[in-house]
Amino acid sequence: MLDTFVAQLILQERQIAYAIADQALRLEQIGGRLDLFESAGVCTAVGASLLDLARELIGYEDQVQALLAGTLSSFQVAMVNRENAAGELFYVTLHNYAYRRDNGAVTGILHIIEDVTLTGKNNQHLTQQRNELFLLYEQLRRANLKLEAANAELRALDALKSKFVSIAAHELRTPLASILGYIDFIFNDPIRTLHPDHQASVDVIGKSANRLLAITNNLLDVTRIEAGYVELTLGSVDLGKIVEEIASHFRPEFEQKQHTFRIEKEPRLPYALCDEARTMQIFSNLLSNAIKYTPDHGRVTVSLRYNPQKDVIIAAVTDTGIGIPAADLQNIGKNFFRASNVHLSRSNGTGLGLNITRSLVELQGGRMWIESTLGQGSTFYLTFPIDDGIFSA
Ligand code: ADP
Repeated sequence: MLDTFVAQLILQERQIAYAIADQALRLEQIGGRLDLFESAGVCTAVGASLLDLARELIGYEDQVQALLAGTLSSFQVAMVNRENAAGELFYVTLHNYAYRRDNGAVTGILHIIEDVTLTGKNNQHLTQQRNELFLLYEQLRRANLKLEAANAELRALDALKSKFVSIAAHELRTPLASILGYIDFIFNDPIRTLHPDHQASVDVIGKSANRLLAITNNLLDVTRIEAGYVELTLGSVDLGKIVEEIASHFRPEFEQKQHTFRIEKEPRLPYALCDEARTMQIFSNLLSNAIKYTPDHGRVTVSLRYNPQKDVIIAAVTDTGIGIPAADLQNIGKNFFRASNVHLSRSNGTGLGLNITRSLVELQGGRMWIESTLGQGSTFYLTFPIDDGIFSA
């Protein structure tokens, strides 16, 4: 037999109350936290009906009868909500057992009521959180679907733009080639010499047509690079010779701006493994920029060194020009981007050249990076893989 003190302690600590009813469901004993019963405003007096004490048992008559008949040992009604005197909701679970006095025949029902408000509230909170999470997940899923659709649309538009640019550039090249051909013919006509008044005008037409051709070629290159259609013919290339040749093409520009130009090359520089025509284009872009973005009487230097640790050639094109604002450095090389100080150079440009340059360097297995100090100058570094065992003289 359980000690009375222990029994009371359990009833209080575990937030439970109990009632014992006879075969006619009349209450014989009642104890524990009676407020769990009373809050429902029911009669807790001995002799009252168990069904009045726990109205939630109405509807469970079959189970109640089975308990009384001894064919069912217990059943419970979980998470019943009740209201206390202050009008607050609380949750109880009703446990019902076949009650056997001295382990003999069933004499009635032991009804235990347990306060499970905390568990109930936690469950409710969890369900609420689960619903909110599900809602968020749904919103996210829908947003993702929209984003995917928008991305697909953007990709389609981008492809359309590239196609348009590529067709337009191709179409422009044919009339441009004929303009340049006729200008060449006019300049080099062995029979008629150009009237001096017209010489300068035709010269301007020629320069403008060449510039237009360079822009259309750049646009074509950008679309080719974006589409992954650049074909490289790799071979052994003497970078020193390439730089000398490109620099000689720019001699008029160097002279016009009175820049000094120097090549600093290691005596026995390995050959690079790269595409010669594309490497010429790379140095042509960088030298053209160095001249363009350096005020008169500047200095332009190209240095070529072998880095044995990385087994690459590092080319550096340095100028004493306007430099690039630090905030713009990370955007240099993005399509159509021109630095905020570009107006200082009073030069034309499209912001395509460095994107092409960087892409070509990377396609050849190299890297490009820039160091620049505003107002003092810039250095564009490039790396080229070497062609093993071949050295320039
Ligand atoms: P473009 O010269 O046609 O504008 P680029 O792609 O070659 O296009 O260059 C992008 C931008 O980077 C230029 O507009 C300029 O602002 C900056 N830039 C490039 N080279 C230099 C340089 N050597 N010195 C200072 N700024 C430069």
